[in-house]
Amino acid sequence: MAAPSLEAVVSLAKRRGFVFPSSEIYGGLNGVWDFGPLGVELLRNLKEAWWQAMTLREDIEGLDAAILMHPRVWEASGHVEQFSDPMVDNKVSKMRYRADTLIEEYIERLRARGRTEEAQRWEEQLRQAVEPHDYYRIIVEAQIPDPVSGTREWTEVRHFNLMFKTFFGPVEEDSSIVYLRPETAQGIYVNFLNVLQSSRQKIPFGIAQIGKAFRNEVTTKNFLFRTREFEQMEMQYFVKPGTEQEWFDYWLQERYRWYRALGIAEERLRVKPHQKLAHYAAAAVDIEFLFPFGWGELEGIHSRTDFDLRRHQQFSGKRLEYVDTVTRERYIPYVVETSAGATRSFLAILCNAYEEESIPTDRGSTEKRVVLRLHPALAPIKVAIFPLVNRDGMPELARRLYEQVRRRLRADYDDSGAIGRRYRRQDEIGTPFCVTIDGQTLHDETVTVRDRDTMEQVRIPMSRLVEYVWERVQLPV
Ligand code: ATP
Repeated sequence: MAAPSLEAVVSLAKRRGFVFPSSEIYGGLNGVWDFGPLGVELLRNLKEAWWQAMTLREDIEGLDAAILMHPRVWEASGHVEQFSDPMVDNKVSKMRYRADTLIEEYIERLRARGRTEEAQRWEEQLRQAVEPHDYYRIIVEAQIPDPVSGTREWTEVRHFNLMFKTFFGPVEEDSSIVYLRPETAQGIYVNFLNVLQSSRQKIPFGIAQIGKAFRNEVTTKNFLFRTREFEQMEMQYFVKPGTEQEWFDYWLQERYRWYRALGIAEERLRVKPHQKLAHYAAAAVDIEFLFPFGWGELEGIHSRTDFDLRRHQQFSGKRLEYVDTVTRERYIPYVVETSAGATRSFLAILCNAYEEESIPTDRGSTEKRVVLRLHPALAPIKVAIFPLVNRDGMPELARRLYEQVRRRLRADYDDSGAIGRRYRRQDEIGTPFCVTIDGQTLHDETVTVRDRDTMEQVRIPMSRLVEYVWERVQLPV
């Protein structure tokens, strides 16, 4: 199965109303996207799949914290000081790059040309780079050219903080600065005690949250992969110190299984340990997906020790401890985090599902079919209903059936064009079932149900349709 090009996926997403550029009539806003009628359904289904996988468990509670938080939160979390990317400008083209990405892409090009030893040498240096000047030195020593102008005239590398700042209240002064959250996790940490006390959970337990996050990325690219506004699905699991490795292994497996259960192909998923561990992390791996532009992170699983709660305890002056009711032991829990991107996973789901195939027509020739092989639970429309022809009472009966079905399932009605065209339109948006009202329906009230993937048809009583589809579009457990 060949991977589709990103262009093919972007073009389908636009044409069929999955994703539009933000404020498009004004020329768009870089790195910001809107989800159209079908996109919002797919995104909601994806988030629902995650929400259920988390909160149907006994040991996980949900949360929806506000986007705006007390500015001290971001001092405690380290974001004010450290949440930055090294940035470099080319003096000729005026293009701005993330210095680490510029170097990584250069290394990729060396590899592609078979210059493996050189590639390894720079990779090693990149791994050790910490300060802006370390990146600058690599760029200069490796003589990396600007991909646009071809020149090597670079500015010094500087740190660039990725948090969006705004002002709280009517006065625009430093003391009223607040940030748009760059991750949802901090909302969970600062509510740790509230949830613990109100839910009667005992350690180990987790808190799950889905929500928007904002990062003023130096460069945005690859459609929904790296955007300035996106959505995250994060779960922080609080454990007893000493048990974190066990839970880390457990959650890595669970999360990998989740992507597989949603139909992501095994050969397009991999687990990659972090090469550089953050100063507080005991272990960290990424679950990656093979996008059309290469491997990219979908989700990070991090063993974060007690770093976050300890810092919030220190900065807020509030004790963030857990007391074991049996042993009376007191401790700050350790955290194992699963941090996924909802909008980034949406892109992975689209790329994974997109297929072009050629199929035989009735006339003996072949034609191209674009099909989104979405898991039925994720498909924006579950069932489409067609009258075979627009006469003999078929449209009326089909509409009546549609009116019944659409109250229970996301359904579509289509009576325009040849039946083959109507199938193609539904295949392209991943509708798992297409139902046709034909001559026989008028006599015995049965309909044909055509399966998107096998293209096989079965005949069932109209009265069983909702149940038939319903059973087949449930989320995997
Ligand atoms: P990167 O190294 O790619 O910038 P990160 O390691 O900083 O990402 P995390 O902070 O671990 O990412 O964020 C968790 C998840 O949030 C990522 O796995 C990704 O799915 C999602 N995410 C992060 N940044 C973006 C972004 N700019 N656009 C879309 N999704 C994002």
